[in-house]
Amino acid sequence: MRILVVEDEVKVAAALSEGLTGEGYDVLVATTGEEAFFLASAEVFDLVLLDLMLPGRDGFEILGALRKRSLQMPVLILTARDAIEDRVAGLDRGADDYLVKPFAFAELLARIRALLRRGRVDQVLRLKAADIEIDLVTRRAMRGQHVLALTAREFEMLEYLARHQGSVVSREMLARDVWKEPARGTPLDNVIDVHMVHLRRKVDQDFPVKLIHTVRGVGFILQEGEP
Ligand code: CA
Repeated sequence: MRILVVEDEVKVAAALSEGLTGEGYDVLVATTGEEAFFLASAEVFDLVLLDLMLPGRDGFEILGALRKRSLQMPVLILTARDAIEDRVAGLDRGADDYLVKPFAFAELLARIRALLRRGRVDQVLRLKAADIEIDLVTRRAMRGQHVLALTAREFEMLEYLARHQGSVVSREMLARDVWKEPARGTPLDNVIDVHMVHLRRKVDQDFPVKLIHTVRGVGFILQEGEP
């Protein structure tokens, strides 16, 4: 089980890391919001322990950004501030639980175990991007109330775009990760573009808000509004 510990106080971070490692968890520590967001986007974690008071991007921002990217791992907020507004704001933004500092390590462990038990079933079975919902089990994609009639390849492209929503996806990335044929990403090959035309037609044609955009010379991006 991998846990990402986001905590800027070095001593606290070290104590958490040591304690959790001693319990058999695989622990990675981020000491800034930027680092936390980068790690959580790039690697797979079963749970995030998130301090709210961080320099730069604070815990609320990190939480919002993770959930916006459809990263659904359980998030347990650690906060020194015991104001009820913080707890409510955290839960509203997609945190699963919270713990007020200082806390007993035994309680932290109990809460982590509970979240890990609960969090495994519905993890990464669905992706959401704007009003698109992608069911990874039935491999069905909906936009609002409409089922999108996608080919297998179009579904894979949409899933990939949704996993990277808000970020530019290059032709090279699609060639490597969706087609598994890096040569497809070269300018001489237009297969990716042809498929993208079909996908965009199915996703965007009948809707006033366009979601798939071309970023000239770079690739594509799935988001509401022009990039
Ligand atoms: Ca802090």
